[in-house]
Parts: sequence; C-alpha cells; structure tokens
Amino acid sequence: MRSFLTADQQARQRDFREFVALYVEPAAAEWDRAQSIPAATVTRMAEAGYLGNMLPVKYDGRGWDTVTFGLLNEAFGRGCPALTDLLTVQAMVSMTLLKWGTDEQKSRWLPPLARGEMIGAFALTEPSGGSHLKSLQTQFTECGDGSYRLNGQKTWISYAQTAGVFLVVGYVDSRPLACLLPRETPGLQVEPITGLLGFRAAGLGRVTFTDVAVPAASLVGKPGTALSYIAPIGLQYGRISTACSALGLVRGCFEEATSRAATRKIGPDTVGSFGMIHSMIAHMGTELEAAGLLCLAACRATDEREPDAFAKALMAKYFASRAAVAAANDAVQIWGGAGCHEDAPVSRYYRDAKIYEIIEGTSQIHEELLSRNFIEAGAKRAAQIR
Ligand SMILES: Cc1cc2nc3c(=O)[nH]c(=O)nc-3n(C[C@H](O)[C@H](O)[C@H](O)COP(=O)(O)OP(=O)(O)OC[C@H]3O[C@@H](n4cnc5c(N)ncnc54)[C@H](O)[C@@H]3O)c2cc1C
Repeated sequence: MRSFLTADQQARQRDFREFVALYVEPAAAEWDRAQSIPAATVTRMAEAGYLGNMLPVKYDGRGWDTVTFGLLNEAFGRGCPALTDLLTVQAMVSMTLLKWGTDEQKSRWLPPLARGEMIGAFALTEPSGGSHLKSLQTQFTECGDGSYRLNGQKTWISYAQTAGVFLVVGYVDSRPLACLLPRETPGLQVEPITGLLGFRAAGLGRVTFTDVAVPAASLVGKPGTALSYIAPIGLQYGRISTACSALGLVRGCFEEATSRAATRKIGPDTVGSFGMIHSMIAHMGTELEAAGLLCLAACRATDEREPDAFAKALMAKYFASRAAVAAANDAVQIWGGAGCHEDAPVSRYYRDAKIYEIIEGTSQIHEELLSRNFIEAGAKRAAQIR
C-alpha cells in the first residue's frame, strides 16, 4: 500500500499514526466507558489541522487531498472509531458547504469549521427511517417572504451533543430542501442518546425542530435539490471516511490477533500453530489488503473527479464495513476469553465494527445502489453490442 502513496502522503500517514498511538489509543477504552470524548482531545485534533483537513487554505483549512483524508481516517479507525466519526461528520458538513454554500455561508461557517472551533452535524435520519429518504417527515413551510418554518425530528445524529451547526434536510411539499441551523436557534432542541452498542463516545443526539424560523440566507441550495445534489456530496465523503475508518479497525484486529496468536501458549503450542486459526488469519490479512486497495481507489477517484467515484466509494464502504465485522469476530475468537473483557481492544472493536454496516447507508442499501449501478452499466454495454 505504501508504495502507492506520494512522499507527502507517507509522511502524513506517519504523523497520523503517531498522534493516534500517543493521544487516542491509550484513552479509547475510557472514552467508550464514559460515552464521551474530552474537549481537550478535540482541541488537540483541531490544532493539528485534522478537523479542517480538506478545506482550502483560504478558509483556514489544510487543503489536503482525499487520499490524505483517507489515511487520517484509517489511522483514527485503529485507535477509536467513535472519534473517527467526528472526522466523518465534520467533513460531511464542511465539504457540502464548500460545494453548495453561498459565498456568505462559506465565509461565515468554513473558517470556524476548518479551525475546529465549531463542530458540524449532518442531520438526515429520522425516527420514521433512515434508508428511505423520500419518506422524511421533517417539513419546511413557506412564509411567503423567502423564509420558512421548520418542524420535525432527527435521530441518531453523531456529535449532536456538541455541534455548533446542523445541516438539516427536510421537505417543502414534495421538494427536498436543506438548511444550516446554528445550535442556539430558538426551537432547536438536542436530547443526548446514550447506551449504544458501539461508537459509544460519538455524542449522538435526537434533534427536534419546533416552529424554527429559517431565513432565506440559511438555505443550502434550492428546493428540490437536497437529495439529488446537496446531501450526496456529504454522503460521498461520509462513505469514504467510514470505509477508511473500518479499514483502520481491520488493521487493529489483524495486529491484535496476529500478536496474540504468536505469543499465547496453550500447552506446548501457540494459538497461531493451529490450522483453523490459520484460516481466520489468512482471511483477515487478505481482506485488510483488499479493503485498503478499494479505499485508496475510492479516494483517488474522488480526487480526480472520476465518473465512477460514487460507485467506488460505495464499494469501499460496503466491503470494508463487512470486513470489519468479520475481522472483529475472528479477532475475539483468537483472543478467547480474554477477548471478551472490556480491557481487550478487540472487544470494543467487536461492538464498534457493527456500526460501520449501518451508517452512511446500510449494507443492504449499498447492495441496492451498487447492483443498480452495475445493471445500468450492463444495459449500456448490451445496447452498444446490438
Ligand atoms: C452510531 C450511529 C451514528 C449515526 N450518525 C448519523 C448522523 O450523523 N446523521 C444521520 O443522519 N444519521 C446517522 N445515523 C443513522 C444511520 O444513518 C441510520 O441508522 C441508517 O441509515 C439506517 O436507517 P434506520 O436506522 O432508520 O434503519 P431502517 O431504514 O429502518 O432500516 C432497517 C433495516 O431494513 C433494511 N432496509 C431498509 N430499506 C431496505 C431496502 N430498500 N432493501 C433492503 N433492505 C432495506 C436496512 O438495511 C436495515 O437492515 C447514525 C446511526 C448510528 C448507529
């Protein structure tokens, strides 16, 4: 994998992994128990430029490419998937605004997001369902002067507990519409969600909007565009971030499982001497390599604006999230009883891994989107042959 990276990307990868080894991995179990990330950690990430990594320098970002963003997420996924989710949502909000925000919105929101002084939350999912976005219930009502009233509820929103700004998608009549709402907006309420299976420290919340006044200047794009143009930008970076984070977790499982297999003695033998353990390790190591290549392809395609960047991000997220679930399952198995205790990193990986198959579209929704994409390409090929 390293041979596919430029010298700059390799140097940054070393920095990211060093940061995670020093400041993230040692504390991840404690954050998981406390179900929160200390503000000092977020500040440290902000100071390193991690929260505005892809935003242009003119907005106080670092201007890094998507490959570097992927390496950052991979490094953090090894240490703490719940904290990596902060990189996910920050990029989703920032990159959506960079593409679709007005000049005024960009100059107001991007610098504090880039400096990490403000956290962004991406509010799409509702209690009525996250997979079928056409059935969103959150409603904008036109006031007649270009402004709107917003009513509805969002749920499972990462970092809602600490976000300073929310990118919200709802409907005006049958047209999807997006807007940006500062946390202090009257009528916007956040209720923390605790007790999650994994990503326990990701500060999730339910967000309720009661007669919220939305001025025209807060709209992102025009009515009708939110699901076809606005949200897909956020979801593209969200899927890349999630895929690379899952890749980091697979690496964590692989490293923990192989070290344990090499050193844990059972009578005269090590765990790693048994054939059935070989099978798990061979599978895990191969999936690690394959997921890494898919993630790199998705990041590169996004950087180079290739037409299949969307499909490549779907494939990377679909494959890496499933690989994470399988790797965590096998890593716990290889660790045996010790892997079932909270002190073992593999036990946290086991809980966190499942989340990757749910967020940014479930595995079933990925299968739906990918198969449609492949069949459409098949139809075009068939038409050319005829
Ligand atoms: C830790 C965590 C963080 C999250 N962060 C955010 C966030 O920041 N912002 C946000 O907006 N959301 C967030 N979510 C929500 C997440 O995106 C949704 O949970 C996800 O999209 C699935 O929606 P749902 O939970 O409503 O499941 P449902 O839509 O009710 O789906 C339930 C099951 O039905 C399946 N299913 C649904 N439709 C189909 C179909 N057409 N074909 C086959 N199977 C189908 C699904 O795959 C799933 O298995 C987060 C969730 C978690 C757990």
